[in-house]
Amino acid sequence: MCESSIKNLIELDPKNNSAYVLLSNVYAKLGRWEDVRAVRKLMEEMGVKKTPGCSIVELDGQLHEFFVGDEAHPERREIYRMLDEIMERLKSVGYVVKTEEVLLDLDEEGKEMALAVHSEKIAVAFSFVKTKPGTTVRIIKNLRICGDCHEAMNLISKVYGREIVVRDCSRFHHFRDGVCSCNGFW
Ligand SMILES: [Zn+2]
Ligand SMILES: [Zn+2]
Repeated sequence: MCESSIKNLIELDPKNNSAYVLLSNVYAKLGRWEDVRAVRKLMEEMGVKKTPGCSIVELDGQLHEFFVGDEAHPERREIYRMLDEIMERLKSVGYVVKTEEVLLDLDEEGKEMALAVHSEKIAVAFSFVKTKPGTTVRIIKNLRICGDCHEAMNLISKVYGREIVVRDCSRFHHFRDGVCSCNGFW
């Protein structure tokens, strides 16, 4: 979506945080950090809250919710151990963290964010802990999946031979054998 149509959205619905997030994503992609800051300031002035990134996994009829850098889950140890293992395996096949994507995730700010783990990665690790190899992983994400997580999902689907379906706020991503159904456009 282009800058001017997003601005229209904000004008139509100034309390809707998703339009601001879209706009700041556009600016961040272009490296227009001054504009990113201006959008944040505007959100503050308008009293619009940032939505924390959240991923949901359904397992045996129960919903499990994960937030950025989540430490709240009772099985966090197993989950993070699995996540480390997954990341090591991805690195061994050439995965490099897209730091700029992590930094420009606009749900949180600053250093904390750079080190944090996006909720969909935690959700995948959780699914791997709880399900048998080969089971399709299904995740619902409230915000748009970032480029780094998208790339990670591609690789995970290939390396582990698992299908991963992520429904984010704008579309379905069906990762299978290293490619996504969106072909990288989303
Ligand atoms: Zn991400
Ligand atoms: Zn996709």
